[in-house]
Formats: sequence, C-alpha cells, structure tokens
Amino acid sequence: MLHTLKTYFGYDTFRPLQQEIINNILAHKDTLVLMPTGGGKSICYQLPALMMEGITVVISPLISLMKDQVESLKANGIKAAAFNSSNTDTENMDIRRECLKGNIKLLYISPERLLTEVNFLLKDIQIALFAIDEAHCISQWGHDFRPEYTQLKILRKEFPGIPMIALTATADKITRTDIIEQLQLKNPGIFISSFDRPNLSLDVRRGYRQKEKIKNILEFINKHKNQSGIIYCMSRNKTEVVAATLQRHGISATIYHAGLSPQARDRAQEDFINDRVQVVCATIAFGMGIDKSNVRWVIHYNLPKSIENFYQEIGRAGRDGLESDTLLFYSMSDIILLSKFASESAQQEINLDKLHRMQQYAEADICRRRILLNYFGESREYDCGHCDVCKNPPQRFDGSILVQKALSAIIRADQKISTHLLVDVLRGNYTQEITENGFDKLKTFGAGRDVPARDWQDYLLQMLQLGYFEIAYNENNHLKITESGKKVLFGESKAMLVVIKHEQTTVSKVTKTSSASKQSQPLPASTNSSDEALFDILREHRKKLADEQGYPAYIVLSDKVLHLICSIKPTTIDEFGMISGVGEFKKEKYGKDFVTLIRRYLKL
Ligand code: ADP
Ligand code: MG
Repeated sequence: MLHTLKTYFGYDTFRPLQQEIINNILAHKDTLVLMPTGGGKSICYQLPALMMEGITVVISPLISLMKDQVESLKANGIKAAAFNSSNTDTENMDIRRECLKGNIKLLYISPERLLTEVNFLLKDIQIALFAIDEAHCISQWGHDFRPEYTQLKILRKEFPGIPMIALTATADKITRTDIIEQLQLKNPGIFISSFDRPNLSLDVRRGYRQKEKIKNILEFINKHKNQSGIIYCMSRNKTEVVAATLQRHGISATIYHAGLSPQARDRAQEDFINDRVQVVCATIAFGMGIDKSNVRWVIHYNLPKSIENFYQEIGRAGRDGLESDTLLFYSMSDIILLSKFASESAQQEINLDKLHRMQQYAEADICRRRILLNYFGESREYDCGHCDVCKNPPQRFDGSILVQKALSAIIRADQKISTHLLVDVLRGNYTQEITENGFDKLKTFGAGRDVPARDWQDYLLQMLQLGYFEIAYNENNHLKITESGKKVLFGESKAMLVVIKHEQTTVSKVTKTSSASKQSQPLPASTNSSDEALFDILREHRKKLADEQGYPAYIVLSDKVLHLICSIKPTTIDEFGMISGVGEFKKEKYGKDFVTLIRRYLKL
C-alpha cells in the first residue's frame, strides 16, 4: 500500500484513517467515510482502485468535480476517464472501448449516466468497486440534495456482490443513516475522522460598517498578494458591489451567483481554478464544484445562516494543508435580515436555532475552534492558539452605565424605536426622522454623545447578543427590553461589555508581533517557508506547464509541493522524486525542468 501511495501519489505516509479505510475496502467490505473537506477522501478509493482487479466506478454529482479528479489522476499517470453528458458521442464511445479493453482503472460517471448504463456498459466490464462521492447528496436532510442520487439504490440490487464506499464531509447523524439505508450498505465499516482543520486561522470582526469592511478587505488582500480567495456575500447584489470595488482598486475579481447564466458561472469558475482571476465574490451558490487545492483565504462579508454553512464555506480554503486565513464580518443588519428569513421559512424553529448558534460563535470569548468542534460533536480540551480569541482575548469592562443609557432611551421611546434611530437619539442628532417622532424631546436625547456612533453600533450588537433586548422583526424591527435587560436598567445586575479595539489587527499580523503565540502555530505561513525569488521562478514555470497541458496549475504541482521544492532545492532528478507529492510519473515528466531551474538559480 505504501509503495503504491509513493509511486502514484508521491506521499510517504497516510493521513489519519486512510490506511484503515483502504484495508476495509481491500477486504471487500462496504465502507462509509466521513472526513472534512481536504481530509483526503479521494485516495481512500483511488488507491484500492489501483490495487484491485477491474474498474472502480466513481459516482460524482458535478461535471467540474469529475473533471478535476480525472485531470489530477492523469497528471499522476493513472488511467482515468469521465463519462458524462458534456462529452461528445465520439468521446464517450472511446471511453467505452477503453473500458472494455480494460485500459481504464477509474471511471467517473454522473448518476444520470450511470442509470442508463446499468444494463449496458456496467454489465460488460469487470467492476472492482463502486465509490459514491459527496454521498450526502442522497439525503433530503442535507444541504445539497440531488434527486438523481436517490436512484443509486439500484446499485445494490443490480450488483449485489460488489463492495461500495460512500464518502462525504457532512457529519450529521440523520444524513449518515440515510446514506446507509438508501445505498443498502451491508454492515459497513464506518470511519469518522476529526473535523478539525488546524491550518485554517479563524478571525471574526464585529459591527463594521461598509466602508470599514472594504478597507479591511483591501488590507487583507494586500497581505495575500497573488493568492486565490473567495468572498461570500449574502446577496447577489452585494457580490457585484464588492467585486466592482475590488476591481477599482486593481484587484482581479469576478462574481458568481445563481442569477448568472450557466455559461457565465462556468467561466467564473474556470477563471478562478486556472488562476486567471484572484478573487471570486459569491453567494452560497458557489462551492461544491470547487476542488481547487490552493484557495488561500475565505472572507465572509456577512454572517452565514448556520455553522454548517460557515464550516463548509471556510473549508474550501487550504485543501492542500497549507496555512490559510479566514475572516468573518458580522453586523446587526445581518442578524436582522437572517432572523427575518429564518422566521419566514418552513422550518422556522430549526432555522432560528441554527442562526442563534452561529451568532453565539461570532460573539464567543472562548477559543472559536473549540466551539466549532463541539458543534460537530467532537469535544476538544485545549485552545487552538490559531483564532482571534486565543491570540487576542477579548477584555471586558463594566458597561452598565452604557447599557442603562441605551435601555432607558428605548423605554422612553415606548419601545418603538429601531437601532439606527436609537443611535441618533443617544448621539443627539437632529435628523428629520428624529424631530418628526419627537425623539429630540426625550430626556435621554444626547445622553451618549461622548461615544462615537460606530461604537454605539458595536455596543448595541453586544447588548443584543447578551440578551438585554430583542428585535421585534414583525414590528419594524423595534427594540423590546427583556427581563435580564430590566435587571441591568434597575441596577440589579452588572453588564460586562467587551472593549472595542479600533486597531483590530488580522490574525497573521498578530502572529508576527507576538512571540508568545508562535509555538502554537501549527504550520509555517505559506509565503515565508521558502525563498521568494526562486518560488516565483518555479511558479512561473508551473504556470507554463499548466497552460501547455490545459490543466490548472495546482494539478501540475500543488502549492505545497512547490514550497517544498523551493526549500529543499533538489539538484538531481532522484532528489526531486523524493519530495512528498511527487510520484514516479511527475518525477519523470517534470524533474529535469525543475532541477535545471534550481541549478541555474544556485549557479551550479
Ligand atoms: P477531500 O475529497 O476529502 O476533500 P482530497 O481527496 O481532495 O480531499 O484531498 C485533499 C488534498 O490532500 C489533496 O491535495 C491530496 O493530494 C492531499 N492528500 C491526500 N492524502 C494525502 C496523504 N496521505 N499525504 C499527503 N497529502 C495527501
Ligand atoms: Mg472530495
């Protein structure tokens, strides 16, 4: 097994559970794998495919996913093909012929195509294994339900003796049992790996206004020069606004949302995958088809509606295991809007609860990774040292007077006031709306003049999160004081607010300045691990090779491999072949070029 791993994939060791999973398959047993995005699920069936007689048939929901996988396999010298509706008839005919001749090891196929081939191609070839990728698509409870997937039930009936492996990154129990039942897996080995993604940094910014957000994002991208990233926005319109702003600042950005034509969406995706554009500003529609391994960062422009969504979306960064940064902005208006959507949805209670958990995450003052892992049912006893809370623990102060000012203004306005008007009242702003409502006559008018409007926004968001008032979404978003709010108002309990940091630094900036947190850094940052000048030379050559072959750059060699080459600086082809991630095929194909470049660089 290790020999096959090294020869074809260039790796020296297995990731957690891979070996156990492969053993289970080689023993002809059914298997269910739950592993986070980037955990290394593909090798779990690709490696047995190479070791077993016959063809492994892989069912995958999207053409883009199949394409990516087939290209990666071919780039490693493995015979693979994708059978789907985007091929011409001649192409599919060729694939059919190659399969019959036994020249293909891995056949990727869409579920629709699978059904039409059940009594033809599939009956004519020797099948070693069925692998069902993104298996959660079979479940109505999941977030990516695909009706075509439910028809995969037919596999067990038509091919009773052939083992099946189902793989997914969706962890919840209902989905899990649904997969087992629908595919009729027989006494499957179930392998659940940790959902931790230690290479992702976590950072949350509270209560930023548009301008501040944009300024922060520009600084962030500036620190991530040439690095691919995704900005998730709540609305289609916002994706367009953000992309246009980035473009004005000279950053190559495109948009992706469900309102675009399929062609425009494909183009955006292709441009991103092939590094022709650095940033995609997208709605949640963008994602599943993205196996790009070198997404270096993900920003949430708005709060996501659940922790599941959030984790999936940040999970698209750092699949190659290299250090990647994530950043989440959240504001009062996000909460108002999302609460409205949730309370109008069919599963009102569940959705409000999910949103609430997401809010708690954003407002946390304990290690964020612990919260995430706990949410997915993994208990973690120690802090990660790699989130903003660990690096920069929030400090609280007795903010009772601030809270009393705000709450008494709400009471005096008869609890018929929304947050933005409340800030005007506290600041003593004579706007038209204020005078029309007679709010300038309130005793608390101007009582919070000493606090900037931006900080009031932040404190009010904190008060909402602490449960001192609620927002009546069905009454023009008016604020209603709660029991615990009354206690603070009447001096019966204290309100501990978080000190607002105006110079909120990004996680990576903090890393550089604070030596205390250095030890807990799990991996080197992706840019300082190697010689930058050499890296640029190698990256350029990789781009050239990629363009020649029509592959994305990361399929030729991943960022991780390129960094390794850069720091190890192999000067012979054999040394090149020893690098993790370089198998026999890539050694033969690229070794000479890269070694020559390195020798030239080292003036040898
Ligand atoms: P998933 O399908 O679980 O999201 P992938 O199968 O796409 O993840 O793998 C993610 C990355 O991890 C790929 O770049 C893959 O080559 C790499 N990888 C997988 N197994 C290993 C391993 N044993 N050692 C090093 N890298 C690995
Ligand atoms: Mg995968």
